[in-house]
Amino acid sequence: MTTLLSLRDPFAGPLTLPDPRPSLAGAGRAELQERLIAIGVPQAKARMRADQIWRWTYHYGVADFSAMSNIAKGLRADLDRAYTLKRPEVAARQISVDGTRKWLIRLEGGQEVESVFIPDVGRSGTLCVSSQVGCTLTCSFCHTGTQRLVRNLTAAEIVAQVLIARDELGEWPTPERPINEGDRRLTNIVFMGMGEPLYNLDEAAAAIDVISDGDGLAIGRRRITVSTAGVAPRIPELGERTGAMLAISLHATNDPLRDVLVPINKKYPLETLFEAIRAYPGLSNAKRVTFEYVMLKGVNDSLAEAKALVKLLSGTPAKINLIPFNPWPGSSYACSDWDTVEAFAAVLNRAGYASPIRTPRGRDILAACGQLKSESVKERASARYRKAHDAADA
Ligand code: SAH
Repeated sequence: MTTLLSLRDPFAGPLTLPDPRPSLAGAGRAELQERLIAIGVPQAKARMRADQIWRWTYHYGVADFSAMSNIAKGLRADLDRAYTLKRPEVAARQISVDGTRKWLIRLEGGQEVESVFIPDVGRSGTLCVSSQVGCTLTCSFCHTGTQRLVRNLTAAEIVAQVLIARDELGEWPTPERPINEGDRRLTNIVFMGMGEPLYNLDEAAAAIDVISDGDGLAIGRRRITVSTAGVAPRIPELGERTGAMLAISLHATNDPLRDVLVPINKKYPLETLFEAIRAYPGLSNAKRVTFEYVMLKGVNDSLAEAKALVKLLSGTPAKINLIPFNPWPGSSYACSDWDTVEAFAAVLNRAGYASPIRTPRGRDILAACGQLKSESVKERASARYRKAHDAADA
């Protein structure tokens, strides 16, 4: 380091080398203890110290060891020499007219994912997190489905999306200014961003352990929903490992159509899928499965299909979410007419399903389902195109 500095041109700008210190933001309890032992904290003390750091990191949201006032100064300095509490960089932020916020997050290695915060009518609100960069599935109506899988997110990168949202919403308490649970806006988490969480279950489950921990972020497991396109063999396992709420991207009531819309259906057809759903631990009227159903004009929106949906779900404690299709450039579908959506919803209402239509949010900032990140990829491509042209013109 010193040699490098002394070799520098004294008139050059500041040297910005990547920080070699690993970040502990997003780490689980076991990792925290290991990291402490690695810098010389005695084994017998590691757990207690990890608990202290945990509280500062996940309850108070501090991003600087020097703020951890109940930890000895010497240890704070040791921590600072070895580690950081840096979050991944927020590469872009957007706020919709309806209050929806979207953050483009640049991960280590330069890949990007998005998280979206959707405020509810009252104080509460939901953060939609991504679990993969890109996706291996190829659902025909989903924009992410047109991108290949780049990589799985680590648990820490999933947790960091929650830390960033709390940073940006300014919702961390301080020892002097506690925040009551009821005053927070970020109250719920849904794994409905980019990626298929059940193809990254180890990291998703580890992230849920951190997010739901009562000494830290304290977003209870019943307020965390994991959405899957239908990776049947991992559905009961998800429940056993996480205790999270389950959502299923259903979108069709028969196999031939679901094979087209959600091609993983060819591997795990409806019968196999529903067998797995019924094996989800703890299902009851108080713990229902959410079924997502995207409204595609002339494809899956007939009254006969509404009735078929009621029939298919009978016997499963269920909520239904009708999602108006969000078109994207090049998509071969259109959203059902509003009258059709309402007529479809009326059939579900009569069968006892309350308010099944999901209001589209954040459309002006492309924060809607299936549109995450794709736009930035496109922009970058068009910027590259412009640059190539400018170069050719010059
Ligand atoms: N892979 C998981 C989670 C990500 S998708 C899953 O399939 O559930 C989150 C939800 O958005 C899914 O229900 C998905 O089907 C839906 N979705 C994707 N693209 C959409 C679009 N263009 N319009 C409306 N909903 C869409």
